[in-house]
Amino acid sequence: MNNVFVYIEIEGIEVQEVSQELLTKGRKLADELGVELHAVVAGTGIKGAVEEQILPYGVDKLFVFDAEGLFPYTSAPHTDILVNLFKEENPQICLMGATVIGRDLGPRVSSSLTSGLTADCTELEIGSYEDKKSGRTFENLLYQIRPAFGGNIVATIVNPEHRPQMATVRSGVMQKAVYEGDCRKEVVYPEVGKYVSPEAFVVKVLDRHVEAAKHNLKGAPIVVAGGYGVGSKEGFDLLFKLAKELHGEVGASRAAVDAGWADHDRQIGQTGVTVHPKVYIACGISGQIQHIAGMQDSGIIISVNSDPEAPINKIADYVITGTVEEVVPKLIKYYKANNK
Ligand SMILES: Cc1cc2nc3c(=O)[nH]c(=O)nc-3n(C[C@H](O)[C@H](O)[C@H](O)COP(=O)(O)OP(=O)(O)OC[C@H]3O[C@@H](n4cnc5c(N)ncnc54)[C@H](O)[C@@H]3O)c2cc1C
Repeated sequence: MNNVFVYIEIEGIEVQEVSQELLTKGRKLADELGVELHAVVAGTGIKGAVEEQILPYGVDKLFVFDAEGLFPYTSAPHTDILVNLFKEENPQICLMGATVIGRDLGPRVSSSLTSGLTADCTELEIGSYEDKKSGRTFENLLYQIRPAFGGNIVATIVNPEHRPQMATVRSGVMQKAVYEGDCRKEVVYPEVGKYVSPEAFVVKVLDRHVEAAKHNLKGAPIVVAGGYGVGSKEGFDLLFKLAKELHGEVGASRAAVDAGWADHDRQIGQTGVTVHPKVYIACGISGQIQHIAGMQDSGIIISVNSDPEAPINKIADYVITGTVEEVVPKLIKYYKANNK
């Protein structure tokens, strides 16, 4: 009772990385609270195929719901599973990915349980909260932290009285790590019919078209990112050349994406992808908070900017003051010579 739950997303029989990232975070929260970490997965033909992708992340108990009609995801059966399971289990926290599925499922579950939900959290912590009006202090609440008001403030949201405290988190924001400590690793296979009404299966997916990712920006060890200072689509061609020499990927600021110089799926930041590369080369990027939110945990940050006072220089390990047109061809030339 009152444990931390993570909803596990799958594609066929493959557990999605965002869920493993949330398990690692969920484990830390559970340890801090002195409770267990539980996970829920629902799909078709997953029994025996998904357990080993979930349990190593510190799961004490895994609920596997396996039945026809549970994959591909549709709203009603997955909502029934979580709502009815949570009525039995009374979790204090539930985490899910801020993905297409999580954005659909989270609000349905939270409104059914009247529990509240914070979307797109960038940090999750445990702390206390004093309600000044009533003079009551609530201990061990989930701090659901996220940028608010266009990124101008970082808001900490708490949910003192209703349970579960629910939060969604984008892929890449938390980092996954196999759990080294002890945990129970119990697996149960509840009878799906006890949780899902037959009517919930009324929607049938007849056809599905899944487009494969065009690049591996999220997992790239080196990211060459371009901003409005790159100046043109041709300018981005230079960044692609540099990324090729470095075996890296190209990212972009929102200003560069809005200008049509880079595809939307390359946008890094609060409303784009979060990356954690070993090296991040920011070319012509000023470093607004919404961009920094998606790359600040990079290993080494190199800024190429014509303005020596650009805000990104404050978080950069190395600053090259100069224009993209001048500096990037030199970097390409240098790395080409050294790659031979
Ligand atoms: C709700 C919300 C969400 C947002 N989400 C995101 C997000 O996910 N990601 C994101 O990036 N932004 C996001 N933004 C936008 C963000 O606030 C900034 O507008 C954006 O990051 C600025 O992009 P930029 O640094 O490329 O452009 P600018 O701020 O215009 O900076 C251009 C930089 O290039 C330098 N420069 C100019 N010419 C050259 C040259 N020839 N060579 C070298 N340097 C040069 C300039 O000195 C400057 O530092 C969001 C905004 C809002 C309100």
